[in-house]
Amino acid sequence: MDYLVYEYGCLPPLRGRAAAIEQMARRHRLWNSLVEVERDYRSQLSAVLRDETSESAVEAARGRLTALRCEIKARRRVERRRAVDAADLQAQIAQAKIELANTIAAAREGRRARIAQNKHSLQLLEAARRVAVRQAQTGSNLYWCNYDDVISAYEIARRRTLREGRDLRFQPWDGTGKVTVRYQHGLAVEGVQAADRRLQFDPVDPLAWTSPRRSERRKLARSRIRIRVGSEGRQPLWLELPVIFHRPLPGDGTVRSASVICEKVGSRERWRLLVTVARPQRAMREGPAVAVDLGWRLLPDGLRVAYWEDERGDHGQLVLAPAVLWQFSKLNDLKSIQDQHLRVALDALGAWSKTNQPPAGIDLGHVSEWRNPWRLLRLYRVWKECRVPGDDAAFLALTAWKERHDHLHEWEANLRDQVIRHRKEIYRRFVAELLRTHGRVFLEDLQIRAMARKDRPEEDNRNYSGGMRVVAAVSLLGRLIREHGDCERVSARHTTRECSWCGHAKEWDAAENIMHRCEACGRLFDQDRNAARNILRRGLMEIESSCREVAEMAAV
Ligand SMILES: [Zn+2]
Repeated sequence: MDYLVYEYGCLPPLRGRAAAIEQMARRHRLWNSLVEVERDYRSQLSAVLRDETSESAVEAARGRLTALRCEIKARRRVERRRAVDAADLQAQIAQAKIELANTIAAAREGRRARIAQNKHSLQLLEAARRVAVRQAQTGSNLYWCNYDDVISAYEIARRRTLREGRDLRFQPWDGTGKVTVRYQHGLAVEGVQAADRRLQFDPVDPLAWTSPRRSERRKLARSRIRIRVGSEGRQPLWLELPVIFHRPLPGDGTVRSASVICEKVGSRERWRLLVTVARPQRAMREGPAVAVDLGWRLLPDGLRVAYWEDERGDHGQLVLAPAVLWQFSKLNDLKSIQDQHLRVALDALGAWSKTNQPPAGIDLGHVSEWRNPWRLLRLYRVWKECRVPGDDAAFLALTAWKERHDHLHEWEANLRDQVIRHRKEIYRRFVAELLRTHGRVFLEDLQIRAMARKDRPEEDNRNYSGGMRVVAAVSLLGRLIREHGDCERVSARHTTRECSWCGHAKEWDAAENIMHRCEACGRLFDQDRNAARNILRRGLMEIESSCREVAEMAAV
């Protein structure tokens, strides 16, 4: 089965808003109590399994490696360039890595032994955790689809964070969230236009998608949906919203779940509908295989975020135009203007408080060290209620700041929303065009690459230089390609170093120059195109060898 997510814009609810927000608040409380359950469980688990000797051995080995890496960075800083001679340190780093791997392996071995010894108490812990989860679920008072959704998100997150050695996080409540309905066995797409008891769509005239007139399409695509957020007696309690069905759900699909999301953009609320549909797997798309190298690089004509090459030798790139970059920089400007205003207000309050007494209950003790506008907003709300004679100067400064802040904050939130959506639209179009003309897609395994390159100065890390990571958002681009294409991931080792024309591999400073001349074959090439070619070759090789394996097994 293929799982596809369809997204539709909604307008504010016609009815059931309060019930929906209530569910969101309860979902949020349930999540936080599950985080508490998990933290409890983990602290008891570590009391059973903890071994301080091997932990401190790993810590020490890690410390030695970090110290060596810092030394390389320091050398670069002194020489003011990236290409420094660090062969001696690189050798020591290699050695330190081996030591670290050994201590980690020993610690794992010890842990495995302790798990075997304490099997019974671990089982008890796990059973107690499950009981606690069930209690939290019952106490949540949620419509079952919603607690089901939160608990399955918790189970996924706890496994992931355990693997990555992180804690589960509490979430602050900001009045937004989502409500969900789920179907264990799916609901046929025609079903939602009938009298289902969890999800209902008002029927849409098919001309909404086929009419040659845009105005007619727009008019007919307007419909309503109802999503269940609880019960009134035995009857469903609905959240009902106007929705714009700009494209149809696939007729051969089954709905597995649907969510309505409420989010805040500045002071505005925005509502969206997401429908997850399962469909029988499509046949592989026709067309040549293509590889995409994701990464960001500032060029004279914009920010390059992807380079592709296909089996026919066609190649191209995706570049974010300077106008888009300018919008992102505008966001930073707005941010720093807000910082300046904040600074001015804090200084004024600090100076005033040296010679004046604020109203009772207001503490301006360390006001000039505040960083967060939220604190100042809270101060404004409290102070407004307890004005005293003689506080005019300070309170007026605070009010002036608040007015500017509200205005700039709103502006920034709306602009951010706009530029992020614009970028997504550019990425969507690029992906649609790429997939229209190509079959299989190969991508580097970005997660592995991110882990491999972060904070390892001894390796090539072109993507971690420059402040363009946030603007490029290549993980979004990767996700769009994976969601819509027949994607295969290819290991990311040395895709930038090897010459894809002759296979010669040698270290060079990848950040320095976009063009590189191969020492062996003399070819001058664009580094990103070279990486795409390497990904393509590797992807094709992996497929060929897995085909050969299948053929050999069939022959036996
Ligand atoms: Zn070469």
